[in-house]
Amino acid sequence: MSEIIPEPRATEDADTAEPVAATSGLLVLAPLRLEANAVRRGLREPASRVQRTGMGAARSRKRVSGESMPGTFGAMVVMGTAGGLTDDLSPGDLVVATEVSDGATTVALPGADLLAAELRRAGLSARAGKIVTVPKIVKATERAKLAAKGYLAADMESAALVSAALAGTGAGRPAAVIRAVSDSGFGPGMVTGGLDALRSLRLAAPVAERWAAACQQRTVLLAGPRSFCAGVERAIEIVERALEQRGAPVYVRKQIVHNTRVVSDLEQRGAVFVDELDEVPDGATVVFSAHGVSPAVRSTATDRGLSVIDATCPLVSKVHAEARRFAREGYTVALIGHAGHEEVEGTLGEAPGSTVLVQTVDDVAALSPSDPSKVAYLMQTTLAVDEAADVSAALRERFPRMRAPGSDDICYATTNRQAAVRAVAVEADLVLVAGSKNSSNSVRLVERSERAGTPAHLIDGATDIQLSWLSGVSVVGLTAGASAPPEVVEEIITALSGLGTVTVTERVTTTESVQFGLPREVRR
Ligand code: SF4
Repeated sequence: MSEIIPEPRATEDADTAEPVAATSGLLVLAPLRLEANAVRRGLREPASRVQRTGMGAARSRKRVSGESMPGTFGAMVVMGTAGGLTDDLSPGDLVVATEVSDGATTVALPGADLLAAELRRAGLSARAGKIVTVPKIVKATERAKLAAKGYLAADMESAALVSAALAGTGAGRPAAVIRAVSDSGFGPGMVTGGLDALRSLRLAAPVAERWAAACQQRTVLLAGPRSFCAGVERAIEIVERALEQRGAPVYVRKQIVHNTRVVSDLEQRGAVFVDELDEVPDGATVVFSAHGVSPAVRSTATDRGLSVIDATCPLVSKVHAEARRFAREGYTVALIGHAGHEEVEGTLGEAPGSTVLVQTVDDVAALSPSDPSKVAYLMQTTLAVDEAADVSAALRERFPRMRAPGSDDICYATTNRQAAVRAVAVEADLVLVAGSKNSSNSVRLVERSERAGTPAHLIDGATDIQLSWLSGVSVVGLTAGASAPPEVVEEIITALSGLGTVTVTERVTTTESVQFGLPREVRR
């Protein structure tokens, strides 16, 4: 079946002996004429250029060395076809190189995950992985050996092209390699596989342009403090120790902390996350998450004879104790928080007959306590400080004799991270918040940045970064919610460094030294 391919819009004449001198934007290095033409048909930006470099390492190296290389471009991408080395790659799949190597020289390309994710968002099948450059087409037995060394695809030019370009006029500029799998062996499928690969190269071309548009030197302003709080560290350590001491499986009711990375890491080590206790076998060990549980859950666990280890954060337990105390003294407790959050459900369960959830100023107006002179309020620990302040002020106005918690329930880690993100947001063009969507404190950090006037995005990791967010952005504020691991922050910085030189500066608004002891069940 033939395919209608639009005429190229990008300027090019790279098949001529004299390469075009680009003024800015993307330079694509494509070894073969077919590959170069496929890419050209996909390009959309007038500033984009395609340079055909010829087949094989020696020709490629010569073509991009010295005067043959266009001097002015923003970023370069090697685009061409490749042989797939693993069984799970099909013709047309794209491999974005995390590194290219010819055995003698290896060049790391740190933005590969980010680019591969953008290609996937464009509907293409793309993976990031290592690409090896070989002197001739590899046979089936060699493919297996290369795959065993961790390579995803083999080509005949990428390592030579990237290393020669970076040593010449491409020095200091961002580089990437996108290879489309044309075959995974010799046979009749090679021809149709080649067409699939060329189609993928064409469709990948505008994504490469988006990548080039996001490339520039940047400053990353790190908010301090960020990432794990003492309650999260304690909860994770409790599960780790339970696994060490009791062996897998260890059941955990709800996510131990609201972070997909943490949960998946613990799952791989033998933790089994369940929504409710009826999913836990009799006699098994169950850990209650950092967000706490209601007394009803505790009592079900006791009735079932489960071995319980409580990872509820001590600051959440403090709110629970206050709810019980106020209820005992005959107060109606207005709990400021978000409906459905596990912590809120646990606190509501402490004194269900006396506690009312108030989420907004309107909820305050609708409150009808049995005795307006006996109202107290408590707060979810992970609320935004100013958001909670609005509702508590409305409560105070309506119930002037209202009792308050001993100290603000919003915890030190939430308060500190919000102050820190604000400090970077006022200086940044964009704020990235590492954290999962169900992490209340991480969502609040996004809102805090936006209230400071800076667009912000919540991301689980670098692959969630959309290239369009970064276009024209020279200062990125970066933080992580209290449940997000510190290594995610490192991963994001590494990914950004694949788009241009990154200067990292930290803005520390306060330092933290809080630590919580472990429950006796897991103390050594
Ligand atoms: S954010 Fe605060 S309340 Fe929540 S687990 Fe961390 S220290 Fe505890």
